[in-house]
Amino acid sequence: MNQFLQYAENRDLREKLYKGYINRGMNANEYNNSELAQKVANLRITQANLLGYKNFAQYSIEDKMAKTPEEAMNLLTQVWTAAQPKINEEIADMQKLASAEPTPIKLESWDWWYYAEKVRKAKFDLDQEELRPYFQADSVMQGAFWTANQLYGLTFEALSDYPKYHEDVKAYKVSDADGSHVGVLLIDFFPRAGKLGGAWMDNYVPQRIENGKDIRPVVTNVGNYTKPVGDKPALLSLDDVETVFHEFGHGLHGLLSKVTYPSLNMNVPADFVELPSQVMEHWATHPQVLKQYAKHYQTGEVIPDVLIEKMQKAETFNQGFVTGEFVAAALLDMNWHLLETENNLDAAAFEKVAMDNIGLASSIVPRYRSTYFTHIFSSPTGYAAGYYSYLWAEVLDADAFRAFEETGNIFDQKTAQSFRKNILEKGGCEDPMDMYLNFRGAKPTPDALLEGRGLK
Ligand SMILES: [Zn+2]
Repeated sequence: MNQFLQYAENRDLREKLYKGYINRGMNANEYNNSELAQKVANLRITQANLLGYKNFAQYSIEDKMAKTPEEAMNLLTQVWTAAQPKINEEIADMQKLASAEPTPIKLESWDWWYYAEKVRKAKFDLDQEELRPYFQADSVMQGAFWTANQLYGLTFEALSDYPKYHEDVKAYKVSDADGSHVGVLLIDFFPRAGKLGGAWMDNYVPQRIENGKDIRPVVTNVGNYTKPVGDKPALLSLDDVETVFHEFGHGLHGLLSKVTYPSLNMNVPADFVELPSQVMEHWATHPQVLKQYAKHYQTGEVIPDVLIEKMQKAETFNQGFVTGEFVAAALLDMNWHLLETENNLDAAAFEKVAMDNIGLASSIVPRYRSTYFTHIFSSPTGYAAGYYSYLWAEVLDADAFRAFEETGNIFDQKTAQSFRKNILEKGGCEDPMDMYLNFRGAKPTPDALLEGRGLK
């Protein structure tokens, strides 16, 4: 849908598609979910009360890193407030173009993608395809290995005779700085018939201690990137590159694990589990790391500074909108689950009150509306009162990377050792906030996240 909204010249069709999309489950027919959402929310109040909680959010967040709905709300409100000036700036930029049309128009929600794309072209002209030749899959993986070497002293040696389930799979023996065995990493990057889509990390053999013996793990990083064709190697997009580093971060969490019981291996709350992965994305696009691995597949030329600068500038593009529609959805989720008494409004009416209360700009709609917000309504627990956790995890990774930056060296050894010891090795053995405090010496703040998104 976004592609259509981005490029379709016909404004009426943009409006038609957009309204069709945002009214899913809210139309006057048998598929209307409005009352169902209301019913689920009301039943959750009963469930929470039976378990001794005032509301469902309290119950759901108690064993997360945030611990209380107030902590989660505090983060959402801070980010929401910080995003407002940027949202207004983006609206003004787009309205300028919309007003200059032969028939001037007032920007509406179905126009956002279309004019944002025009602003992007004018202000941040970055063609993603220009980057691809510098992102050969093998080199990107080597870049991730190099980063782990600089941070933790790990080395990765290809194993040619390791038993594998498919010829596309590559196996690496991972060793520590002192030569001791860390584990085995399997890389399975290309699509094939019968393989699940997407990218993930998994533990084939989880690390644990058995009869006094440290069983080292076998972990896998799976992706579905474009396969090499003829003599053209697999070339990745910038998104893919970030995904490779992301999954590799989960991989390091599994590889460096140092727990006794397998049940505690990587067993951390949903608002903490993305810290080891997302933090790696900061190295992926750091100029110092890019220059190490991003080399043109034909000429070997290192990625030029002008492309790196364009990439960095593009990072803050449209972030007011992206942040606004996310936080609106997260606040909507919290509104549903902070209810302490049965609510007598159906989804559409409830949502209107909630969004009016936060003063949502008329040209932004929450990323998910109540009647198709499957994260919070389709499973008994899932992300109910937990949609905030994506943002929470980003606060953590931005703040954690800031710890490295503050030393003036993104590979600072003291900080890296502390991250390894206090976060990566610990699995679910300690309270996540304690682990973070031990690493950082302070609670995380959203400052680094806001700066990264150009909101501060
Ligand atoms: Zn992840």
